[in-house]
Amino acid sequence: MKPLGEPEIRKSFVNCSKGEAKGLTLPARAVEIPWPELEFLGWRDPKAASRAYVVLWHEDEVVGLSLRAADQPTSRLKSGMCGFCGTVHGLADLSLFSSRRAGQSGKDGNTLGTYLCANLQCCRYLRGKLQPDAIQPAEHLTVDERIARMETKLHRFVTQVLETR
Ligand SMILES: [Zn+2]
Repeated sequence: MKPLGEPEIRKSFVNCSKGEAKGLTLPARAVEIPWPELEFLGWRDPKAASRAYVVLWHEDEVVGLSLRAADQPTSRLKSGMCGFCGTVHGLADLSLFSSRRAGQSGKDGNTLGTYLCANLQCCRYLRGKLQPDAIQPAEHLTVDERIARMETKLHRFVTQVLETR
């Protein structure tokens, strides 16, 4: 993805207060982030474990989403799949994230939820830079095809968060 600077990242958030955006902890200094290997920047706030952030280019604009991780899933399933990258994880490595919708809808308490890689490192899983613990289903897609599929899901999610009417 096209590189971003810290002020751009902080200004991008569509579903949290200016105070939260200003106070959140970035994953690294912007110059240290490997932008060409990312479709989105995703991270857990190192100082607030339940908080997570996703920042990406969406229709030529930078959009940042503030997410909340639920406590460990109460599902009876033993594993599940990330809603972005499709990586299968045991429940310890999967989190249910909720995103407040943008605008008044979010202020009224409307959220969207999805299971995602708990560390939000989807881009690294897809490139084989991180290995999931769980066994993956056999799939005959190239890395590029998997990335394209993730981008479709990502943008669909962002579109839903931004839909305020
Ligand atoms: Zn993922």
